[in-house]
Amino acid sequence: MGIEVANVTKRFGGFVALNDVNLHVDPGALVALLGPSGSGKTTLLRVIAGLERPDVGSVKFEGEDATTRDVRERRVGFVFQHYALFRHMTVFENVAFGLRVRPRRVRPSRAEIQARVTELLQLVQLDGFARRYPPQMSGGQRQRVALARALAVEPKVLLLDEPFGALDAKVRQELRRWLRRLHEEIHVTTVFVTHDQDEALELADRVVVMNAGCIEQIGTPDKVFRDPASAFVMNFLGTVNVFHRRVSGLTPGMDAIEIQCPDELPAGSRPARIFVRPHNLEIDTRASGRPRLRGRVQFINAAGPQVKIEVLTEFGEILQVETSQKRYRALGMVKGGEVYVTPKEMRVFFDDSRPDQADSLESGSDVDTTLGRIGRPCASKKSP
Ligand code: ATP
Repeated sequence: MGIEVANVTKRFGGFVALNDVNLHVDPGALVALLGPSGSGKTTLLRVIAGLERPDVGSVKFEGEDATTRDVRERRVGFVFQHYALFRHMTVFENVAFGLRVRPRRVRPSRAEIQARVTELLQLVQLDGFARRYPPQMSGGQRQRVALARALAVEPKVLLLDEPFGALDAKVRQELRRWLRRLHEEIHVTTVFVTHDQDEALELADRVVVMNAGCIEQIGTPDKVFRDPASAFVMNFLGTVNVFHRRVSGLTPGMDAIEIQCPDELPAGSRPARIFVRPHNLEIDTRASGRPRLRGRVQFINAAGPQVKIEVLTEFGEILQVETSQKRYRALGMVKGGEVYVTPKEMRVFFDDSRPDQADSLESGSDVDTTLGRIGRPCASKKSP
């Protein structure tokens, strides 16, 4: 079932928790609401669920206005961070609960409930656990019971609020993969809230990045990561190095390094932030004649597939650099040693850009005039 959120504003007293939010969710999609604490993710999920009424705007399910329909009428299934299973009921009874409390005329028979719960426990890979009680199970298992319970009533939409938030990193990862496979099997339209970018990027087919009650960007994981619509999105999705510089059409931007920006940018030097991801900084122990920043290695973390290096530049900036294990060994880098760093790919966001100068934005994006929105990949160029 498709969901259409149109111009939704929600206030709590004088506080605007959602500010004119627009969101379209395709039938069968798996969508992540991603953003920092307090950005409005849970409020948006609750508005979709019917647990909160928007002050302005509408929510449509499959084209039909559901704004005034209550939770039950919307046929949504919920899973929250804290599993909230009934401790005194077996796993079987927990999953069967939603079916057993249905009015008599629509309640399935005993045999049907038995068959449905058995099927769901197989689906969440917990067959054999039917007679256990929640305290006898691990956190990950309990969360799978919660999912089976939410699915028992055949929801049209599944809403998950930080479903793996209370679990440790390894279990979270396993459950992510498991949920992805489950979704591929059952295809129920699913919206989940997370503040964990890895979770959103790995699991969702669409990511909605939220900030201060607004949607900053909607796109595929690849799109939001590689083509962030704003400085906020660039900053929020993964580690990034930020250089505060003045940039014009073609100007020496990063001191020793010249940045070539698109010709259509207005002439004149403008304050900007230049963003470079750690893996887009090339590091060397020798000055190769190419444009570079000079610095000293402050810290090396070689535990992991990529080596993380912290560099203090000649301009007093601390850079996070990532390189392969192979290159790290070949360079023989040491703490305190001199290094040269060259940006391979960067993005420029002007601090003073106005909405009418913004790059093309995805529908539903809000315009934040203070951050600036022009985010274009710029190629680094050799200094004259
Ligand atoms: P988190 O990741 O911390 O759960 P979130 O992005 O889900 O954050 P929301 O729970 O949607 O954020 O809250 C958005 C803002 O609205 C917060 O500043 C919060 O304090 C406020 N808020 C949410 N619910 C209420 C309420 N019932 N009364 C007053 N303020 C509220």
